[in-house]
Amino acid sequence: MRLPGGCSPKCVITIFSRRVLRSYVPVQGRWRCNVAAFMPEAAGFDGVSTRTALQDYSVSNSESFWAAVARQRLSWIKPFTTVQDCDLSQGRIKWFEGGKLNVSVNCLDRHVHTCPERVALIWERDEPGSEVKITYSHLLEMTCRLGNMLRRYGVQKGDCVTIYMPPCPLAVASMLACARIGAAHNVVFAGFSAEALAERIRDAKSSTVITVNQGVRGGKIIKLKKTVDKAVENCPSVQQVFVAARTDNPVTMTPKDFALEEEMMKEDVVCEPAVMDSEDVLFLLYTSGSTGKPKGLVHTQAGYLLYAALTHRYVFNYHDGDVFGCVADIGWITGHSYSVYGPLANGATTVLFESTPIYPNPGRYWEVVQRLKINQFYGAPTAIRLLLKYGDEWVQKYDRSTLKTLGSVGEPINTEAWEWYHRVVGDRRIPVVDTWWQTETGGICITPRPSEPDAEIVPGMAMRPFFGIKPVLMDSEGKVLTSNNTSGALCIAQPWPGMARTIHNNHQRFIETYCQPHPGYFFTGDGAYRSKEGYYQITGRLDDVINVSGHRIGTAEIEDVVV
Ligand code: AMP
Repeated sequence: MRLPGGCSPKCVITIFSRRVLRSYVPVQGRWRCNVAAFMPEAAGFDGVSTRTALQDYSVSNSESFWAAVARQRLSWIKPFTTVQDCDLSQGRIKWFEGGKLNVSVNCLDRHVHTCPERVALIWERDEPGSEVKITYSHLLEMTCRLGNMLRRYGVQKGDCVTIYMPPCPLAVASMLACARIGAAHNVVFAGFSAEALAERIRDAKSSTVITVNQGVRGGKIIKLKKTVDKAVENCPSVQQVFVAARTDNPVTMTPKDFALEEEMMKEDVVCEPAVMDSEDVLFLLYTSGSTGKPKGLVHTQAGYLLYAALTHRYVFNYHDGDVFGCVADIGWITGHSYSVYGPLANGATTVLFESTPIYPNPGRYWEVVQRLKINQFYGAPTAIRLLLKYGDEWVQKYDRSTLKTLGSVGEPINTEAWEWYHRVVGDRRIPVVDTWWQTETGGICITPRPSEPDAEIVPGMAMRPFFGIKPVLMDSEGKVLTSNNTSGALCIAQPWPGMARTIHNNHQRFIETYCQPHPGYFFTGDGAYRSKEGYYQITGRLDDVINVSGHRIGTAEIEDVVV
């Protein structure tokens, strides 16, 4: 009998771990995936014995799929009573109503109960070799102190706190502290200008901003507090700014400013978690639209967390004890879902990368992989293309044997970059997953994995829908294209728990942008090609949003700058 990978069972014993072997069972003389070992919930799904059948089931029995996964993978204070109440044509999206939970408890407390000393965060600081490890119990303590501090300063359930910080443990603890007390967070990428920051603070009506004195990136100091000072001048809602000390350099403090570490040290290490409804807001994240100002996309508690956790587990083949390295900034949705919420919900060790791919040299990523023993590496095509130009030596210098999955996100990855990533970084032995998704989708929607372990992966293609995702292509008249080897507007035909619920303060814009172009479908704004095998390849934006290095920029924003 042949095993996946084309080896005989004998030779496989040496290369496949026992865990992998448990995932296979002999069926009619062939080794098939043991689907219940792959996803325990599948044992309860009638007639599901392969991963492909599981995928089909997740789409055609979406409610029962998501109900089982949500019961199993989230800790509920009170169980949900309805799985979903959605009508895409009206922009009504509700999941797990009646359920009550706290996201920070799901990301921290439950792991502290089972493995308090497991490392939750590895902060890969700009200075190579100076990483800081934070255990789950330490992160819970930081989160609780911060939660108590925010409560003392009057932040209440339903308020929105703006966070303007580079990737660091205090930024993650600030996000989780908001979740702990029931406030929403609005993380603004700490590379945005004072005007962009001010616009986002005003739209979110934040009374509280959390920042650092200075950022450090690529060996350079970035005066983040100065940017905040300038932004706050035009934000009457702001009453207090908490300033963490990333560097030892003093910065000017105004009467509104408080030293973050000093204030949090005054607080208790226990903070009562707020009891949140599934559909309460977890965060706003602003992204560029084709017209007007940036859209504050709203993600809610249970559905978002579940989707981030499930995609993190299955797309990347994450297992307990792995070190997960997503090098995106926390200011983007990738940082939210795959540096913070997905990994922490799964009890993973997650890396926060503060530096750049070429500092102090173009071997930085791979030196980090070697030093931190990273198992999954998730980055952007722009960086891969840049590193490819510096040559293979920078990669080959370092031991990458811990790697199990390589991921790509944010923009199309061209075949040359994909092949280099696979051949040089992955030594041809590691699956490369080109993952398509967007701020609106909350998590990965189209991705080569999970699929049968020996299923083909085509370079530069996102290929297959994730569980519960039903992609469709539309022609210019709004008709669903049913044949393969065709291109059209990429829509998603049924709701999934991770999708954004609305645009902050502008539900009408949400409906017009995502629901009205093709009534009954979620319109992604992207075009896609479906190959003759049925695989999806993203062809780019259909609106006038441009995507530069994985960051969306609206033409209105370019006009603004020019003006
Ligand atoms: P953002 O919401 O800022 O993460 O940007 C999402 C947009 O990035 C999508 O609508 C796509 O246009 C693009 N994008 C993301 N991932 C991919 C991918 N794997 N292939 C092609 N384009 C992508």
